[in-house]
Amino acid sequence: MSESLPVIKLGNPTLRQSSSFITNVKDAHIQKLINDLMITVKETNGVGIAAPQVAELHRLFIVASRPNPRYPNAPLMEPIAMINPKIIEHSMETVKGWEGCLSVPGIRGKVPRYQSIIVEYTDINGDLKNVQLVDFVARIFQHEYDHLDGVVFIDRVESTKDLISEEEYQKLQNYNATSFQNNSQK
Ligand code: ZN
Repeated sequence: MSESLPVIKLGNPTLRQSSSFITNVKDAHIQKLINDLMITVKETNGVGIAAPQVAELHRLFIVASRPNPRYPNAPLMEPIAMINPKIIEHSMETVKGWEGCLSVPGIRGKVPRYQSIIVEYTDINGDLKNVQLVDFVARIFQHEYDHLDGVVFIDRVESTKDLISEEEYQKLQNYNATSFQNNSQK
């Protein structure tokens, strides 16, 4: 049975550890972990989750962008499990954008990330995939990839002034949504 797993939070030393490569994707524990992470990311309104966030130190994460209360403007995609992911190439251009993390509740940060990346990963069936990701989905990948090396988004902000509370972030989102509606009515 698949189940939602508890997410560990900042301060738990496991979140700062590096994860190991997965040698057998078909392993029953790994397959169950993938299913459990899929459920966990959905139930917590995440757009991605990495195995170390549930205290499983394997190089595996889910990218699951979709609009939800925590990310109202996220693009919709089928959730993908990425095993032993790697960044093969990246754009020179970086963009700053807001991120949050299920392991860092109550805080948002403006984080610079590559705008475009070419990545390689093994999928749930054990097949090697090579895809280009851009904008928000590229951002999710880079955020989750960092978790595999014990890095969290607050390590990546250029200034502590780029950190804000969830409450203020929600106000910004509402303001942006209102001004967008006003603009589109013109
Ligand atoms: Zn995170």
